[in-house]
Amino acid sequence: MQIAEPLLIAIEELSKLPGIGKKTAQRLAIFLLKSENQQVDDLITAIKDLKLKLRFCSRCFNFSEEEFCNICKSEKRDKFVICVVEEASDVMAIEKTNEFKGMYHVLGGVLSPLSGVTPDSLHIKELLKRFETEDIKEVILALNPDTEGEATSLYLAKLMRPLGINVTRIARGLPIGGDLEFADDATIGRAILNRSSI
Ligand SMILES: [Zn+2]
Repeated sequence: MQIAEPLLIAIEELSKLPGIGKKTAQRLAIFLLKSENQQVDDLITAIKDLKLKLRFCSRCFNFSEEEFCNICKSEKRDKFVICVVEEASDVMAIEKTNEFKGMYHVLGGVLSPLSGVTPDSLHIKELLKRFETEDIKEVILALNPDTEGEATSLYLAKLMRPLGINVTRIARGLPIGGDLEFADDATIGRAILNRSSI
């Protein structure tokens, strides 16, 4: 079967996206082909803007359009509490629950000696620095409930406790080995409310 090259290339590129197999990629490519030019242009602009307009917040490493993200800039947030998460996408997951009004700190991953992820490759230094300049009373550890997330939580708790900070972790309502990003809002919201000391 001979397929026109632009279509082949589009299918190839789309199938590189997570969760998109060849069949879905083909369906999306055909859908785009049949769409209005404006709709396709809007999609192209949205994708380009992701790379052009977004960066990481200099303070918490959340996605941001400027040096500091909207959460760091907000006057309405509780500046005494920081929720520590693995990825910026976890901030979005927790924000959707509307249960947390504090600040965030994105680690950029979890400790994984086997894959070469050491404390230096995460934003741990930057987190500790925040204790010097910000009046932080509580740190909520909201890492994924898998082996590496657990090990990282214990490592962080050990580092922070001597600094006189109340370190808590989100409740175990999340499925073990599950991913925060894919848990439903109610489960994440409950897990934050029912946090406990670590
Ligand atoms: Zn920020």
